[in-house]
Amino acid sequence: MKLYIVPTPIGNLEDITLRAINVLKSVDVVLAEDTRTSGSLLKHLGISKPMHSYHIHNEHQTVTRVVERILKGESMALVSDAGTPAVSDPGFLLVRECIKHGIQVECLPGPTAFVPALVNSGLPSDRFTFEGFLPHKKGRQTRLQNLTSEERTMIFYESPHRLVKALQQFAEYFGADRQVSVARELTKIYEENVRGTLDEVIAYFSEKTIKGEIVIILAGKVEEKKKSDKYED
Ligand code: SAM
Repeated sequence: MKLYIVPTPIGNLEDITLRAINVLKSVDVVLAEDTRTSGSLLKHLGISKPMHSYHIHNEHQTVTRVVERILKGESMALVSDAGTPAVSDPGFLLVRECIKHGIQVECLPGPTAFVPALVNSGLPSDRFTFEGFLPHKKGRQTRLQNLTSEERTMIFYESPHRLVKALQQFAEYFGADRQVSVARELTKIYEENVRGTLDEVIAYFSEKTIKGEIVIILAGKVEEKKKSDKYED
C-alpha cells in the first residue's frame, strides 16, 4: 500500500535511475500522464505493467478511485511524460489525497529540467524561486510586477515559440541588462545554454527559429545590486 512518484528522463534515456526501474518493476500499476509515451519507456526498459491514464483533465475524477485502490492494498507508481511528476505536471492532488488518507508516499529523486538549468546558468543557486509557467494572459502582468523586487534567482518554464516575447517582457519589467540564462534541450544532442544580459540573449534568439524545450533562469535583484556595488569599488 504505497504511492511512488517516479521521475523519468527529460530527453536522455540513460538518466533513468536503477531504483526507478526497480520500483516500476515492483508496483501493481503505473499511473501515466500519457500511456503511449510512458508505454514506450516501459517497453524500452523491458517492463510490462498495467497502466492507467492519470492526466490533468481527469485528475479530479481519478484521484478518489486511485486512493481507494491503494487503500485496498495495491502499490502504484505515478510517472509523467518527462521529469518529476507534480513539477509543472499532474501529481500534487494525488500526493495530497494520499497523505490525507494515511497512505505512504515516496518520491524518488531523479530527472527534472529546472535543476540542471539552474546549475548550468552560473547564477546564484543558494536561494531560488521556481515560477514554472507564467499565465499566458490573465494574471501574467501581476506575477511579473510582484517579481520585480525578487532577490532570489528565478526559474521559468517556457515554450520555444513564446521565448523571445517572454524575454522582451522580462527586459521591460527587470531591465535589459539583467543577467539571464536560457537552457534549451537539456540532456539532448542539441543542448545549449545561452547566457548574458536580457538584451544579448534576445538578440541571439531573435535571429533563430527556436525549437525544443526551454527553461529560463533569471538573476534576482540582489545580483544587480552586487554588480553596481562592484562597479562603485
Ligand atoms: N515535470 C517536468 C520537470 O520535472 O521538469 C516538467 C514538465 S513541464 C510540462 C515541461 C517543461 O519543462 C517544458 O516546457 C520545459 O520548460 C521544461 N523542460 C522539460 N524538458 C526539458 C529539456 N530537456 N530541456 C529544457 N527544458 C525542459
